[in-house]
Amino acid sequence: MSKRRELEEMVQQVPEVVGRYTKLMLLVNDQVLIERTKQHEKWGEQRHSYGDWLTILGEEFGEVCEAMQRNRGWGKKTDAQDLHKELIQLAAVASAIAEQVIEERGLTS
Ligand SMILES: [Mg+2]
Repeated sequence: MSKRRELEEMVQQVPEVVGRYTKLMLLVNDQVLIERTKQHEKWGEQRHSYGDWLTILGEEFGEVCEAMQRNRGWGKKTDAQDLHKELIQLAAVASAIAEQVIEERGLTS
């Protein structure tokens, strides 16, 4: 049974207050998967050097920082402002890198 399936079943069996954090995990992971799909539709299969990946990841990380600064009243008008969206995008880029790592290690079937 996949971890996702296991967590989904667990949430069904426990009281709401207990399953709350698991539900949040599943929700965020769904959002990352949706964003990852969007990135794939936009850019196709991405395979880069780790140095290039770091520039992409760093750009997304910078937008997370911008959004945090905006929320504190700092930064400038052109800065990213939706912290949640930027965190999901950052996680989706990390997912894309992890996919490449799996492939490089020959772990795909
Ligand atoms: Mg972003």
